[in-house]
Amino acid sequence: MPKTILIVEDTELDMRLFKDLLEANGYDTAQSVDGADIIRLAKEHKPDLIIMDIQLPKVSGLELTKLLRADKETVEIPIIAVTAFAMIGDEQRILSAGCDGYITKPFSVPMLLEAIEKLIKQTEPQPAVKTVENERHSSKAH
Ligand code: MN
Repeated sequence: MPKTILIVEDTELDMRLFKDLLEANGYDTAQSVDGADIIRLAKEHKPDLIIMDIQLPKVSGLELTKLLRADKETVEIPIIAVTAFAMIGDEQRILSAGCDGYITKPFSVPMLLEAIEKLIKQTEPQPAVKTVENERHSSKAH
Protein backbone atom coordinates (compact mmCIF):
# COMPACT_ATOMS: atom_id res chain seq x y z
CA MET A 1 0.00 0.00 0.00
CA PRO A 2 1.45 3.41 -0.90
CA LYS A 3 2.43 5.70 1.97
CA THR A 4 0.52 8.96 2.26
CA ILE A 5 2.17 12.33 2.78
CA LEU A 6 0.18 15.40 3.78
CA ILE A 7 1.65 18.59 2.31
CA VAL A 8 0.98 21.94 3.99
CA GLU A 9 2.19 24.69 1.67
CA ASP A 10 0.66 28.03 0.70
CA THR A 11 2.88 28.78 -2.30
CA GLU A 12 1.13 27.23 -5.29
CA LEU A 13 4.33 26.51 -7.18
CA ASP A 14 5.95 24.81 -4.19
CA MET A 15 2.80 22.77 -3.53
CA ARG A 16 2.88 21.57 -7.13
CA LEU A 17 6.58 20.77 -6.85
CA PHE A 18 6.14 18.69 -3.67
CA LYS A 19 3.06 16.93 -5.02
CA ASP A 20 4.65 15.97 -8.36
CA LEU A 21 7.92 14.96 -6.73
CA LEU A 22 6.30 12.76 -4.09
CA GLU A 23 3.79 11.16 -6.43
CA ALA A 24 6.57 10.43 -8.95
CA ASN A 25 8.32 8.60 -6.11
CA GLY A 26 5.35 6.40 -5.26
CA TYR A 27 3.68 8.34 -2.46
CA ASP A 28 0.03 9.31 -2.25
CA THR A 29 -0.48 12.93 -1.24
CA ALA A 30 -3.08 15.08 0.49
CA GLN A 31 -2.84 18.87 0.48
CA SER A 32 -3.59 21.83 2.69
CA VAL A 33 -2.90 25.38 1.48
CA ASP A 34 -3.08 27.19 4.83
CA GLY A 35 -3.21 24.50 7.49
CA ALA A 36 -6.55 25.70 8.85
CA ASP A 37 -7.92 22.20 8.22
CA ILE A 38 -4.80 20.36 9.42
CA ILE A 39 -6.29 18.37 12.28
CA ARG A 40 -9.30 17.27 10.23
CA LEU A 41 -7.09 16.29 7.27
CA ALA A 42 -4.60 14.47 9.47
CA LYS A 43 -7.38 12.40 11.06
CA GLU A 44 -9.10 11.75 7.75
CA HIS A 45 -6.03 10.73 5.72
CA LYS A 46 -3.89 9.34 8.56
CA PRO A 47 -0.73 10.39 6.71
CA ASP A 48 2.55 8.53 7.28
CA LEU A 49 4.34 11.88 7.29
CA ILE A 50 3.58 15.61 7.05
CA ILE A 51 5.60 18.17 5.10
CA MET A 52 4.97 21.44 6.91
CA ASP A 53 5.73 24.87 5.49
CA ILE A 54 6.61 27.16 8.38
CA GLN A 55 5.68 30.47 6.71
CA LEU A 56 1.90 30.32 6.25
CA PRO A 57 -0.59 33.21 5.93
CA LYS A 58 -2.84 32.47 8.93
CA VAL A 59 -1.13 30.28 11.50
CA SER A 60 2.57 29.39 11.44
CA GLY A 61 3.62 25.83 10.70
CA LEU A 62 5.15 25.66 14.16
CA GLU A 63 1.79 26.46 15.77
CA LEU A 64 0.17 23.76 13.61
CA THR A 65 2.88 21.32 14.69
CA LYS A 66 2.07 22.06 18.34
CA LEU A 67 -1.62 21.38 17.64
CA LEU A 68 -0.78 18.05 16.04
CA ARG A 69 1.48 17.11 18.94
CA ALA A 70 -1.28 17.93 21.43
CA ASP A 71 -3.76 15.47 19.90
CA LYS A 72 -3.34 11.78 20.70
CA GLU A 73 -4.52 10.76 17.22
CA THR A 74 -1.87 12.83 15.46
CA VAL A 75 0.94 13.00 18.02
CA GLU A 76 3.02 10.24 16.37
CA ILE A 77 2.96 11.51 12.76
CA PRO A 78 6.50 12.48 11.67
CA ILE A 79 6.75 16.12 10.56
CA ILE A 80 9.38 17.67 8.31
CA ALA A 81 9.38 21.47 8.48
CA VAL A 82 10.08 23.52 5.37
CA THR A 83 11.55 26.97 5.79
CA ALA A 84 12.77 29.55 3.30
CA PHE A 85 15.64 30.56 5.54
CA ALA A 86 17.24 29.13 8.64
CA MET A 87 18.58 31.68 11.06
CA ILE A 88 20.47 31.08 14.28
CA GLY A 89 18.03 29.60 16.76
CA ASP A 90 15.58 28.43 14.10
CA GLU A 91 16.66 24.80 14.27
CA GLN A 92 16.06 24.73 18.00
CA ARG A 93 12.70 26.49 17.59
CA ILE A 94 11.60 24.04 14.88
CA LEU A 95 12.65 20.93 16.79
CA SER A 96 11.25 22.07 20.11
CA ALA A 97 7.88 22.77 18.47
CA GLY A 98 7.77 19.02 17.78
CA CYS A 99 9.06 18.69 14.23
CA ASP A 100 11.28 15.68 13.51
CA GLY A 101 13.46 17.47 10.99
CA TYR A 102 13.53 20.39 8.60
CA ILE A 103 14.66 21.38 5.13
CA THR A 104 15.50 24.82 3.81
CA LYS A 105 14.37 26.05 0.40
CA PRO A 106 15.81 25.57 -2.16
CA PHE A 107 16.21 21.96 -1.07
CA SER A 108 18.01 18.94 -2.49
CA VAL A 109 15.57 16.35 -3.83
CA PRO A 110 17.65 13.28 -2.86
CA MET A 111 18.11 14.66 0.66
CA LEU A 112 14.38 15.28 1.06
CA LEU A 113 13.48 11.78 -0.15
CA GLU A 114 16.08 10.24 2.14
CA ALA A 115 14.77 12.16 5.15
CA ILE A 116 11.20 11.07 4.36
CA GLU A 117 12.14 7.41 3.99
CA LYS A 118 14.11 7.45 7.21
CA LEU A 119 11.28 8.98 9.24
CA ILE A 120 8.61 6.70 7.78
CA LYS A 121 10.73 3.60 8.46
CA GLN A 122 11.30 4.60 12.08
CA THR A 123 7.56 4.47 12.73
CA GLU A 124 7.18 0.97 11.30
CA PRO A 125 7.56 -2.05 13.58
CA GLN A 126 10.67 -3.98 12.55
CA PRO A 127 10.45 -7.79 12.48
CA ALA A 128 12.70 -9.32 15.14
CA VAL A 129 14.18 -11.94 12.80
CA LYS A 130 15.41 -9.31 10.42
CA THR A 131 17.22 -7.49 13.23
CA VAL A 132 19.06 -10.67 14.23
CA GLU A 133 20.10 -11.29 10.63
CA ASN A 134 21.32 -7.73 10.30
CA GLU A 135 23.39 -8.00 13.46
CA ARG A 136 24.96 -11.24 12.37
CA HIS A 137 25.75 -9.80 8.97
CA SER A 138 27.35 -6.67 10.36
CA SER A 139 29.48 -8.54 12.92
CA LYS A 140 30.77 -10.73 10.12
CA ALA A 141 31.75 -7.69 8.11
CA HIS A 142 33.89 -6.27 10.89
MN1 MN B 1 4.83 29.67 2.73
